[in-house]
Amino acid sequence: MHPKRRPLIAGNWKMFKGGPAGLELAGACKELAPKVRGVDLVIAPPFTVLAAAAADLDGTTVGLAAQNLYPKDSGAFTGEISAPMLKECGCAWVIVGHSERRQYFGDTDALVADKVAAALSHDLLPIACVGETLAQREGGETLRVVKQQVEAFLDVIAQSKAAVAIAYEPVWAIGTGKTAGPAEAEEVHAAIRTWLSNKSAELAERTRILYGGSVKPDNAEGLLGCPNVDGALIGGASLDAGSFGAIAEAAQKLAQGK
Ligand code: PEP
Repeated sequence: MHPKRRPLIAGNWKMFKGGPAGLELAGACKELAPKVRGVDLVIAPPFTVLAAAAADLDGTTVGLAAQNLYPKDSGAFTGEISAPMLKECGCAWVIVGHSERRQYFGDTDALVADKVAAALSHDLLPIACVGETLAQREGGETLRVVKQQVEAFLDVIAQSKAAVAIAYEPVWAIGTGKTAGPAEAEEVHAAIRTWLSNKSAELAERTRILYGGSVKPDNAEGLLGCPNVDGALIGGASLDAGSFGAIAEAAQKLAQGK
């Protein structure tokens, strides 16, 4: 964690907590916010909860994210949702390129770059996800693969002044209970920071690089304590306000140097 960057703790609810359960969890996250001042909290509920959650979170510091978007403003794209629609219903953020999108829905590096560009052109902040599979890690390909994924949208984020976030999420650590150790995470985060700084020092300084992959209250401090880890993208543990809050508190303590 770096003193110049506020920690960002984001919860990806995936296809859980629609309807009343989602509003209840959003309400619980709203209660957390005043307890973790200095930490940016973002939640990404399913689409069906976004508008109602936006109304409930209005006037709070909890940011609202969508989990995906389609990179056209409108048109005959059945089943898809555009950046202007997300903006209109109260989102400030959008997750793009999550490994589940890449794996099950064919999101390619090029499509992810288009989604990042669409988000930025409508003042939505992307959380752009990258990460290697287990086979790629075991084949010594981690940095090559992650670099290729980052390079796909590097020019797009370099041309913007927005405070984009990149989430490094090793695919083998998502929802598996396995997590990269702090040293493994830091190696990739530091590499991403270098690729950003090769574009511009200002881009490297303003971009928050989140770690994601089975982050839980008991491993959060070690991961968030790495110099180039600026926060976390959390799946399973974000479905419980107590766990999500405990991870945010770990970030707050580190940011305050405690
Ligand atoms: C995720 O969905 O982005 C994620 C990191 O999930 P989990 O925390 O459950 O591994």
